[in-house]
Amino acid sequence: MKKLFSVLLFIVMTFSTAFAEKVYQADLAILGSGVAGLTAAAYAAQNGLKVVVLEKLATIGGQLVLIEGTFAVETDLQRQEMVGLTKEKAFEQTMNYSQWKADASLVKRIIDESAGTLKWVTDNGVKMQGLITDTPDGNRVYHTYEDHNPGKQYIDTMANIVKKGGGIFLTETPAKSLIQNKAGEVTGVIGEDLDTGETVRVNAKAVLVATGSYAQNKEILLKYNPEFPPTVRANGLKGNMGDGIIMGQKVGAQLANMHLSFSEGAVPTNTLYDELYTDEKMLQAYMVLKTKSLWVNKAGARFMDEEHSGDFTIVQNALLPNGSTEIVIMDADYRKDLMEETGAHTNYFTLFGAGQKITLFDQVLADGLKRGYAFKANSVRELAKQLNIDPEMLQQTVDRYNELSKKGNDDDFGKSAKWMKPLIKAPFYAFRGENTICDVGGGLKINRNAQVISVDGKPIPGLYAAGATSGGMYGDSYPYIMPGFASATAMNTGIFAVKDVVEKVLHKKIQ
Ligand SMILES: Cc1cc2nc3c(=O)[nH]c(=O)nc-3n(C[C@H](O)[C@H](O)[C@H](O)COP(=O)(O)OP(=O)(O)OC[C@H]3O[C@@H](n4cnc5c(N)ncnc54)[C@H](O)[C@@H]3O)c2cc1C
Repeated sequence: MKKLFSVLLFIVMTFSTAFAEKVYQADLAILGSGVAGLTAAAYAAQNGLKVVVLEKLATIGGQLVLIEGTFAVETDLQRQEMVGLTKEKAFEQTMNYSQWKADASLVKRIIDESAGTLKWVTDNGVKMQGLITDTPDGNRVYHTYEDHNPGKQYIDTMANIVKKGGGIFLTETPAKSLIQNKAGEVTGVIGEDLDTGETVRVNAKAVLVATGSYAQNKEILLKYNPEFPPTVRANGLKGNMGDGIIMGQKVGAQLANMHLSFSEGAVPTNTLYDELYTDEKMLQAYMVLKTKSLWVNKAGARFMDEEHSGDFTIVQNALLPNGSTEIVIMDADYRKDLMEETGAHTNYFTLFGAGQKITLFDQVLADGLKRGYAFKANSVRELAKQLNIDPEMLQQTVDRYNELSKKGNDDDFGKSAKWMKPLIKAPFYAFRGENTICDVGGGLKINRNAQVISVDGKPIPGLYAAGATSGGMYGDSYPYIMPGFASATAMNTGIFAVKDVVEKVLHKKIQ
């Protein structure tokens, strides 16, 4: 009875025949139930806030189903495994990587609190698997989840905490606009119940916008990244259209680092990135594109030191001025090398290891010949014709590459001699891929409490943003030297917002 009473008190539902509107009262309205929104909702519910979460999709969890690991530093696991990286060093490296364009105060707090946040996540039952890096001799800061995916266990764990604390999830209920009073305070949100068409109004003491990135919104993407071709593809949730960023701008929010995208490197032409998860052959096709053999652009010119094939930022930065297309050239010896000897030249997080054999090379080739991402010929000139490249140009590029390989010194781009192997033995192969975006990293500018900053440089009262909806913590490049920083950002900024709301609404301080 008491429970029923409190639920009735918590949810005030008003219906009128003219305007069907559902009204909820909350301490904190959270828009989006992805990494940031769901983590924040659980943390808020556990700390005594009444939360209502609006989620556009039918299911909660956002991109939790895609991620494999999360950054943290000075964790128990790192201590056990003798990882010497300190918070101070991690901060220095991250800031230097961004050339101090990232918001130092925000980055410092994310790094300092990362271990505590991950401990809170695991103390609540989310299971981790191990600790890795993603570059040779890189920082071992990527804490992987059980079965390489936080997916269901994270979602169920956090959702149970929310429900236990009396929180509510409204799925298939996209947030449409923020409610702002005359004093400029954000006091709630208007959404729509897609099932009934009713308007949903949540009156709240604070609103956290966590609707993910704008990666699927071509208009915004191309506006801030004019160097991308209009055909550029982005991975991730198709519903991530930048809704929260648009809503925030309408109440006067400032934007930060909107041009920043995280790259996935080249994904085979005419295929979908999602196939990597469902078809082993496609994962191997993607790994073939990471081979440190000769890479050329659409004109047949070499353009970079291919030794960086595993560094997403470098690959994207090098591909953009080269038409966003990567073509890797190999010969018969390479096929054997990939299948039986060296194997993959780099790793792809935990999905594919460096040295793992490309056993499905021939299936990849057969599929690629059909779908237009693989090419095979008995001469370089013939291969060039198939690729629509001037045969003389490609022949000259291969000749120069072979000359440097034999010399054992890459005078043109400085690649280590180890990766300079001449391309001599027919048949010759080419694999083509398109630069693909993993996600984008710009959004509503926030401070170290995740408060949204207005165009006048002041916090907008009552408004918070977290995760991919927020911006400022990366500068111009995603710090791949700290793998898993994106989800760490989402979890931590969500928690920063909750800590601030608890302090302001419940007058309590969470340490
Ligand atoms: C393929 C892939 C692999 C990745 N792997 C990793 C990894 O291993 N480690 C890592 O750290 N990061 C990884 N990332 C990045 C990571 O997924 C994001 O940084 C993270 O999901 C951001 O969390 P978020 O809560 O801001 O957004 P999301 O997790 O995208 O959640 C946003 C939520 O908001 C909802 N939403 C959208 N619009 C509205 C609206 N109007 N109203 C209500 N709800 C709305 C969406 O449906 C979604 O549920 C990966 C990304 C991709 C694409």
